[in-house]
Amino acid sequence: ATPTALLVGTGRGSQLGILIRGPQILERTRQVDTVVLDKTGTITTGLMSMTDLHAVHGLDDTELLRMAAAAENGSEHPVARAIVTAATTADGKPGNAEDFQSHQGFGVQAVVDGHLVLVGRASWLSAEWNVLVPDGLLAAADAAETGGKTAVTVAWDGEARGVIIVGDSIKSTSAAAIAEFRRLGLTPVLLTGDNEGAARAIGAQVGIVDVRSEITPHGKLDTIRELQAHGRVVAMVGDGVNDAAALAAADLGIAMGTGTDAAIAASDITVMSGDLLVVGDAIRLARRTLGIIK
Ligand code: ADP
Ligand code: MG
Repeated sequence: ATPTALLVGTGRGSQLGILIRGPQILERTRQVDTVVLDKTGTITTGLMSMTDLHAVHGLDDTELLRMAAAAENGSEHPVARAIVTAATTADGKPGNAEDFQSHQGFGVQAVVDGHLVLVGRASWLSAEWNVLVPDGLLAAADAAETGGKTAVTVAWDGEARGVIIVGDSIKSTSAAAIAEFRRLGLTPVLLTGDNEGAARAIGAQVGIVDVRSEITPHGKLDTIRELQAHGRVVAMVGDGVNDAAALAAADLGIAMGTGTDAAIAASDITVMSGDLLVVGDAIRLARRTLGIIK
């Protein structure tokens, strides 16, 4: 394609709300055959809210929520924001925490009122912190996850204290966009750090068969490399800090403009509105711009 045609293509892109890092990106866009999609914030709105909570016997629900929210106050994660919002609505404002640390893809730790509080995946609490999660809590988490929700376990002083259930909704255009990817000959893959039940439920609702769940941020990068090793030309669509490495490794990184700066910085294309239908527009634009000229 001539440089002029490529510039016209990128100019048209910006009219559609598609920011393209440079004209050379269009060529790569045209060759893509696989679209890997993050779940939270990409297929779903990423605006999670608390739907339920289960405290262990003898513990007050409000106390469980207050401790969890104080620990999560320093986190930007959608799960954290849901917990902090719920606690603020119930109680005014979350308490203070010290020594906050975030463990990307797993959860958070912080000291609240002198107690070491952990909030995160049950498997992380048991494997990394030797927390024994009682069957009752595991069952509550399981039931919620099968229904498409995310369950996080709360522990302090080494003991499990409860489970908090959060969820968000699928963006109104996600299913149509994924159908459009198929029409363009692209194979969709769902890639998420979230639990298997939620991932399958969301995948089923938007029409994705290849669903990969409980993948750590580094595992997301490995998945992109593995697809490439099998000869696929991969576009990755994501919004989170935990997607940045995968976005950079993909043949084409596409960030949701509604997402984090880290995801945008790692990507070749930014879709300002965060609408997946516009990702289809970008691919069609690239094919058209290059197709007419060649
Ligand atoms: P996703 O791919 O859906 O964006 P992440 O890699 O960010 O998922 O997180 C994977 C899982 O790790 C979450 O579903 C949650 O169980 C846990 N997790 C991550 N961050 C937090 C947090 N701040 N608080 C509690 N749990 C968390
Ligand atoms: Mg995300």
